[in-house]
Amino acid sequence: MTLDRRHAWHPYAPLPSSVSSVPVVGAEGVTLELADGRQAIDGMSSWWAAIHGYRHPVLDQAIRDQLDHMSHVMFGGITHPPAVSLVQSLVDIAPEGLEHVFLADSGSVSVEVAIKMALQYCRGIGESKRTRLLTVRSGYHGDTLACMSVCDPINGMHSMFSEVLPPQLFAPAPEPRFGEPFTPEHIAEFESTLVSHRQSIAAVILEPIVQGAGGMRFYAPDYLRAVRQLCDEHRVPLIVDEIATGFGRTGMLFACEHAGISPDIMCVGKALTGGYLSMAATLCTPEIAAGVNAAESGALMHGPTFMGNPLASAVALASIQLLLSRPWQAEVAAISRRLDEGLTPLLDHRAVRDVRILGAIGVVETVDEVPLESTQRLLLERGVWLRPFGKLLYTMPPFVSSEHDITTITSAMGDACEAM
Ligand SMILES: *Cc1c(COP(=O)(O)O)cnc(C)c1O
Repeated sequence: MTLDRRHAWHPYAPLPSSVSSVPVVGAEGVTLELADGRQAIDGMSSWWAAIHGYRHPVLDQAIRDQLDHMSHVMFGGITHPPAVSLVQSLVDIAPEGLEHVFLADSGSVSVEVAIKMALQYCRGIGESKRTRLLTVRSGYHGDTLACMSVCDPINGMHSMFSEVLPPQLFAPAPEPRFGEPFTPEHIAEFESTLVSHRQSIAAVILEPIVQGAGGMRFYAPDYLRAVRQLCDEHRVPLIVDEIATGFGRTGMLFACEHAGISPDIMCVGKALTGGYLSMAATLCTPEIAAGVNAAESGALMHGPTFMGNPLASAVALASIQLLLSRPWQAEVAAISRRLDEGLTPLLDHRAVRDVRILGAIGVVETVDEVPLESTQRLLLERGVWLRPFGKLLYTMPPFVSSEHDITTITSAMGDACEAM
């Protein structure tokens, strides 16, 4: 694998690379097949995406069937059944009021589109001075330029670009944590920032309930409800980024359902295609769409080459139908219970600062940084694939994981803490 180390960039990695990546030659069910013959349970679901596991017969078949018709055709001036059916399905399952769908090619692009929708909306309603975004600390919204501007400015992995990014407004990270009582104090600084900058704010953007790559934090639904109320009161569009949380991961189909709210604009990605192909979507309300159309362009000014890719659309539709046909809520609840049984006892460990579980997400926050290489080696010896970062050792396994799969993951996580 010296060619890989010499030529291929990996996420957030140097090149040439000093460390070898793990060669994987196949994947089936919840298991990755390593080139050396070993197997590992994928406790990451390939970064939240592979909710049904790998080589699922229904998803494989959906791609094969679509391949027999066409793998791709442009979406400019052309439409096709897979995209139309997918859009219809997304509107059906999305929180109330989200009726329009832009099919994007990755999560970051869907966030860019959401931001452009908000900016065009403000121009359309004659308030073109509203160009800034209000967000919260500890957020993560992707790696492209506008996305980076709303990631946490310090731990969002992009601090070195701060001088070229549009300066946005940041309120403190949402509090209290999930399950703890909310008081008006918790939203006070968000509210004062919103009120004092109202004339310049195009939209509020945040991840609902779960902040993912910015810290794996779970916060109280009441906080999100308060944000929704303030956005209504001050007529500021609310963008929720459900790219990590969408499609059942938190125990609800979409995390904003924990708060019983609907956003004005919503991004989905990651698990949209069950982890098969890159696709994301930005949904919005008719009111936002009307504002967008009223801007001088008269249209939403975005159009990726591979927009609405038929293969990705077909497998996304199949993945949604498969999810809804399964007792997914019971599966996620069972995983949640097992993560709790396996991980909560680690709280007593001297290397562990905090343990938190929500839906099919289990997080162990350690006192010191998790040593990446030695920890991954140990986990692989235990038959588990995880990708810790910073002080976070965490898992979001496929929904099809068995009881044994989950206990294998949690006991390997315990061993990793032991080794620290
Ligand atoms: C992963 C992620 C993104 C970016 O999606 P990509 O497909 O990697 O571009 C944006 N927002 C959140 C919350 C994410 O978890």
